[in-house]
Amino acid sequence: MMTLGSDVSGLSTTAASAAARGLSIVVPVYNEAAGLALLHERLIGLARTLRQRYGLASEVVYVDDGSADTTLSIARTLKADALDVQVVSLSRNFGKEAALMAGLDHARRGAVLFMDGDGQHPPTLVEKLVGHWIDDGYDVVYTAKAHRDNEPFLRRLAVHGFYALINYGARQKIPEDAGDFRLLSPRAAAALKQLPERNRFFKGLASWIGFRQIRVDYEPAPRAHGVTTFSAGRLVGLSIEGLTSFSVAPLRFASLFGVLLAVGAFLFGLTILWEVLTTGKQVPGYPSLVIGLMTIGGVQLIMIGIVGEYIGKILSELKARPIYFVAEHSEKHADETTTASASERTSPERTAAE
Ligand code: UDP
Ligand code: MG
Repeated sequence: MMTLGSDVSGLSTTAASAAARGLSIVVPVYNEAAGLALLHERLIGLARTLRQRYGLASEVVYVDDGSADTTLSIARTLKADALDVQVVSLSRNFGKEAALMAGLDHARRGAVLFMDGDGQHPPTLVEKLVGHWIDDGYDVVYTAKAHRDNEPFLRRLAVHGFYALINYGARQKIPEDAGDFRLLSPRAAAALKQLPERNRFFKGLASWIGFRQIRVDYEPAPRAHGVTTFSAGRLVGLSIEGLTSFSVAPLRFASLFGVLLAVGAFLFGLTILWEVLTTGKQVPGYPSLVIGLMTIGGVQLIMIGIVGEYIGKILSELKARPIYFVAEHSEKHADETTTASASERTSPERTAAE
């Protein structure tokens, strides 16, 4: 039978079944050589605690997103102590969203936790996230910055505007300030995997799937080493990406703006007519003509740009290229500590056949 929806209820979690399948921790790493070993130590500690408290088995999936430093060789040496270790190495730098997807695809256990590889997402908070999932039955446990006091006013304003725009008219609102540090129950993870688009905006998708969601506030730790890879320019890019892959609000605003301009022009025309009829004076036309021309020209260019963004999206969805290529994949199991498979070929993932 073919249905147009998707039933993931078979994966619904009772505390017992949840613990039986365990937790996959997905960590995208891009040039994180300096802090990786320490992070792994902390994850081992975390895995021990989770096993003690919930009888939960865990694995970690490191996705090397084409790092230029020694991240990959360090990741290969990490030992599978208390948790299984998978190392998935992408063929080049595909960006964090693609790395997260690669991790999700390789996660073998039931629930999935996404966590940055730079130590900003405290492993100590994970226990609380897992508690919300196993004890309270939530499907999506997302974290959000407790406050943005230390960020410049303009940036906060931009963030606010972005969410206002993306949530405009949306049925399922994307929570403001939610980060990528997030736990998905088995059925939520299964749902997320099924979304077919190539232009992925994780925060949006993880919210869109629904289920029982809960927010946890936290204070991100300062970056332990290195600098953020997300410059202002890249953030703007990501915002445009998120907006256009998630909502048609910009197109609606384009139409709305067009209507406003047309109404304004009509009223202006009326006042001119009124003036000519009542005073008989000729209206000096040159400045108003030029301003009108420039306004319309500028607005049209902006609108063509917006439409172009969407056409670009359609093009990339149509080409249907894989989101990432895995160049190398190895895994170690906590009990036997052997490398089960290390394939050095480049294999397309997530082809249309899936
Ligand atoms: N990251 C990645 N690919 C990239 C850029 C970043 O996998 O192209 C990873 C990076 O290693 C880190 C996480 O994404 O684990 C967040 O990156 P970063 O700390 O630079 O961003 P911020 O915390 O400032 O948002
Ligand atoms: Mg960071």
